Amino acid sequence: MSDLPAVLSRAKSEGVLKMLTICTNFKKPNQTISLSERFEEIFFAAGVHPNQPTEDLKFKSEDLLSICAHKKMIAVGETGLDFHYSQDSKRDQIKSLIQHIEVAKEANLPIIIHARNADKEIAKILSEQYLKGCFKCVMHCFSSSSYLAREALDLGFYLSMSGIITFKNSQNLRDIFSKVPIERVLVETDSPYLAPTPHRGRSNEPALVSYIAKKGAEILNVDEDFFRAQTTKNFFSLFDKAN
Ligand SMILES: [Zn+2]
Repeated sequence: MSDLPAVLSRAKSEGVLKMLTICTNFKKPNQTISLSERFEEIFFAAGVHPNQPTEDLKFKSEDLLSICAHKKMIAVGETGLDFHYSQDSKRDQIKSLIQHIEVAKEANLPIIIHARNADKEIAKILSEQYLKGCFKCVMHCFSSSSYLAREALDLGFYLSMSGIITFKNSQNLRDIFSKVPIERVLVETDSPYLAPTPHRGRSNEPALVSYIAKKGAEILNVDEDFFRAQTTKNFFSLFDKAN
């Protein structure tokens, strides 16, 4: 990303002081670790995204575990299930998800979950794994059903709002979030995807998270400054290694 310094300074001017970037396939070379080493304000998470090729969903737990020791790695993931884009790898996705959770517990890190068209299966696995030993978790870019929202909240997990919350056709999602306790809400970009209205369709970046905060405050019917302060606090409670 050639305009990275500009991206970071725009983020700063919007009050976005810390950022979490995601390595979606820790087995392949990527920039996330080096970015976190170059910039104090950037942290990273690592895992194998459920939409990655089936062969990459198979990994050695100790390989992921060894990256967890990095001081800027503050979460495991994203992992999860995506039965929308990746139907054929269902079994491997489930195995990989469970393995990620085990690694996260072992490393004492929270886990970042991606869920698409797999609400029942995700809820089942998360609660089964939680019964075996608790862990912290965020449902990232939450856009699933009220059922999965309820299940995740019952386990003490966080729900993260993305630009989807600003889209015209997302009333159902706004209704779900309007009932979520503010102590469990996070905001995120999913950059470069899901740019919020009025930037929809263009490349997303951290500065634009302020549109999500504005909308989030409106949905939860609280003052925007309070919403910003609370979601920041939530970030540090969930990703406590960032403190
Ligand atoms: Zn995702």
